[in-house]
Amino acid sequence: MDIQTITSKKQLIQNLNKVEEYLTGGSDESYSAMSKYIARGRVFVTYIVDGKYHFAPSRFVGYKNNTLTKHENNNEKDGTITSPAISKILGSKNQFYSELEDAYLTYCEWLGVTPTNHKRTFWLLNQDILDELTSEPFQEGGYKMRVHRIRERNRKVVDLAKDSFKKAHGGKLFCEICGFDFGETYGKLGEDFIEAHHKVELSASEGEHEIKPSDLMMVCSNCHSILHARNVSIEELKKVLKKKK
Ligand SMILES: [Zn+2]
Ligand SMILES: [Zn+2]
Repeated sequence: MDIQTITSKKQLIQNLNKVEEYLTGGSDESYSAMSKYIARGRVFVTYIVDGKYHFAPSRFVGYKNNTLTKHENNNEKDGTITSPAISKILGSKNQFYSELEDAYLTYCEWLGVTPTNHKRTFWLLNQDILDELTSEPFQEGGYKMRVHRIRERNRKVVDLAKDSFKKAHGGKLFCEICGFDFGETYGKLGEDFIEAHHKVELSASEGEHEIKPSDLMMVCSNCHSILHARNVSIEELKKVLKKKK
């Protein structure tokens, strides 16, 4: 397969943007695939987004124009090839930093993944690369929206929220806005399917507060899309539906 390691800062930045895109803009599947790679990685490029450390696995960002599909099909992926390529671009070797290790563990918790017990090493990007990175398109969605999406995709918290909702509703899972029940409509296929919406107002959700299951509400895909696309409040949307009935 024709897959080459990166040779420039620009290519590195492109891959870092890809990682962010998978975590915040893509599907739940791409979120969970990417966050698993982050949990399993041993060598990381550390970058800062709005004051928070993010970590990208070197074996992913070290290959030119990488994507999840390419990565899954790349049988030759090898950290002993990507690490020197990244070191060369950044002009320094990856090292262990206890401060970054701590930040990495916090990041994994935030993503809802459990890191491995391996020893990890890091590169920390210089300010000039960070400046270029933050001028890239993934910033457009805004930090708050990215935090919001990541919270909604934290599998552990979502599963806990689903469980406690079911317990409180006789084992049923339905949209808290319109009442739609995937299981009723789609039978077996729809069983246990629902999306989670982070209730806490975006403006109030700044900082590093832990994600609690009670922060999430159960919503169908339609109501969830309208909430985000039209930026209406939960109450407003409920009112609209009541009127229709
Ligand atoms: Zn709904
Ligand atoms: Zn949402």
